[in-house]
Amino acid sequence: MIKEQLAARDISDPRVLEAMSGVPREVFVPEDLHEVAYGDGSLPIGEGQTISQPYIVALMLQVAEISLSDRVLDVGTGSGYAAAVASRLAAHVYSIERHASLIESAQQRFVELGYRNITVRHGDGTLGWPEEAPFDAILVAAGGPEIPQVYCRQLSRGGCLVMPVGPESHQKLVRVQRRADNGFVEDDFGYVSFVPLIGEHGWSSTRARNHNR
Ligand code: SAM
Repeated sequence: MIKEQLAARDISDPRVLEAMSGVPREVFVPEDLHEVAYGDGSLPIGEGQTISQPYIVALMLQVAEISLSDRVLDVGTGSGYAAAVASRLAAHVYSIERHASLIESAQQRFVELGYRNITVRHGDGTLGWPEEAPFDAILVAAGGPEIPQVYCRQLSRGGCLVMPVGPESHQKLVRVQRRADNGFVEDDFGYVSFVPLIGEHGWSSTRARNHNR
């Protein structure tokens, strides 16, 4: 996975490659999918959700330029895989998920694997996590119609937001950097396809349900 799916593409940050190689992806997928855990794609994890493709997890971490002293907000815990990888690059990861059953299994995995620098919460991640802001990086693992302004407010100066933005069928992976002078710089890293970000500043749950039919 590391050699063929990441390094052979454009994942060149050695810290990201090392963090990815340190997390056992099979622990984060259902038992009947253990054999295909290192394949080049997303996999179902229950509740109609997915664990993201390894390449996309690595790309988001690489463009977020996370350093060891950083506090990271991870929106869309899902299986907990991306939070686990991020926790090897950062000081602390705050991870939020709207499905209670997913957050419970993710928390259990973190305990079993000994990840102590991840705090999880059940709730609407489109509101961010105001009590723990500001964050040096905000990683959003679900696609929204636009960038919630609340994320920009919860970014530290010099911090980075990485999230898929666009219609539910396909999005652009966008990075917003908050500069030291408080301005924002936006760039994008091509097209991606994520499950919808559902919440107050994302898609409404009824709309997403209709779309998925
Ligand atoms: N990072 C996850 C992993 O490593 O398994 C994959 C995340 S999956 C592609 C996207 C997740 O975002 C889903 O679990 C979904 O329930 C969650 N999600 C969608 N909208 C959300 C919201 N407003 N707040 C929190 N989680 C949300």
